[in-house]
Amino acid sequence: SKASVKGFLKRNLFVLFTIAAVALGIILGFALRPYNLSLREIKYFSFPGELLMRMLKMLVLPLIVSSLITGISSLDSKASGKMGLHAVVYYMVTTLIAVFIGIVIVVIIQPGKGNRDSPVANGGNIEPVQATDAFLDLIRNMFPPNLVEACFKQCNTLITMKKKTTVRIDLCVKRFQPQETVEEVVPVSGSSSGVNALGLVVFSMCFGLVIGNMKQQGQALREFFDCLNEAIMRLVAIIIWYAPVGILFLIAGKIVEMKDLAEVGSQLGMYTVSVIVGLLIHGLFVLPMLYFLVTRKNPYSFIGGLLQALITALGTSSSSATLPITFRCLEENNHVDKRVTRFVLPVGATINMDGTALYEAVAAIFIAQVNGMELNFGQILTISITATAASIGAAGIPQAGLVTMVIVLTSVGLPTEDITLIIAVDWFLDRLRTTTNVLGDSLGAGIVEHLSRKELQNQDAEVRNSVIEEN
Ligand code: ASP
Repeated sequence: SKASVKGFLKRNLFVLFTIAAVALGIILGFALRPYNLSLREIKYFSFPGELLMRMLKMLVLPLIVSSLITGISSLDSKASGKMGLHAVVYYMVTTLIAVFIGIVIVVIIQPGKGNRDSPVANGGNIEPVQATDAFLDLIRNMFPPNLVEACFKQCNTLITMKKKTTVRIDLCVKRFQPQETVEEVVPVSGSSSGVNALGLVVFSMCFGLVIGNMKQQGQALREFFDCLNEAIMRLVAIIIWYAPVGILFLIAGKIVEMKDLAEVGSQLGMYTVSVIVGLLIHGLFVLPMLYFLVTRKNPYSFIGGLLQALITALGTSSSSATLPITFRCLEENNHVDKRVTRFVLPVGATINMDGTALYEAVAAIFIAQVNGMELNFGQILTISITATAASIGAAGIPQAGLVTMVIVLTSVGLPTEDITLIIAVDWFLDRLRTTTNVLGDSLGAGIVEHLSRKELQNQDAEVRNSVIEEN
């Protein structure tokens, strides 16, 4: 009937806008390709998209801090402990499954078999990164010595590694593909100006726990962060109106800029297919299945409510930048309890990256295949572990996974300069793995909510009782 059509349109207006924006972006992008715009022109053209990125990033920092602090301080320690445990188990299990799927697929498809079809840099003079150092860096990052600095800088040694890698990638790109420009690698070096989200997450969690236990004394701070969180979410509600425009130009700009697909060699093509197949299996079957098994609810209608976040992830290739939209989708469309989203989403966006883990495993084994290197079981195990660690360590920013690849490659003695082999398609795979990352975080929030419903109900009852007592 007319009324229900109207209701449907009203509820899904944003989603429809966003889907239309993606379609328009793709059409516009391909329409402009024949004009061979210069990089500068493309930059001007994608300006509305750049603005969206900046707006979203602007909100991420206060959002992570305020939501975690309010989320945790509003729970009693039993509830937050249980929820945290569920979340961590979910993150570990799904990340390992993702790695496993990646390994199985790359071993079956064997994209790197045969003679290598791209030139490779022969050795840079950059010292290899030790896996141990990378692990220590991960832990170091959890405790930023300077909180203010952590807000605008990832202060650790990984950063130098990133810079070095970036430099080398530039050099290789320049040396072997003269038509490429430094601009191509800007996102990688851009990662250095990111936020040390991991450090802020750890700090905010501890801070929330402490002020949660401070009873009356902590009241003012709890109210402050609660109000801050609410205010940020209202800003998100405004920005969301602009999101479709931004996404349109982000996608169109990237399509104008991308290399001719015909230039991608057959090995790289098969590698791309392997990653895509893995991500699809994980995102469309495994994760939804898991959600269904735990909650007995329809996973696909849950995913339907997430569409806008997923498309934003596709457009921005950053799970951090998508975080504000993820919050909104889960709370507004899927009605997930705010106490759960506030707690698990910031943590998930920072450490839970199924798509990245899967991609790292596929890429490492692909590079081994290209080099004709047979991997034994121990080495494959090492790849699984380091790919998991690399996905935890990767920041939720564009192409961060490409940089943490170094950890995986060096752990089994593969040449890190071979990262240049996969750069050409990385911008594309980055978008898909980011979407998978966001999907994993969101389904995780649904699962954790379901598993923690008893604690949440108990807490509701307690609050009710105390209100009655006060009266
Ligand atoms: N871009 C991804 C994200 O933000 C990280 C990666 O490069 O894998 O989730």
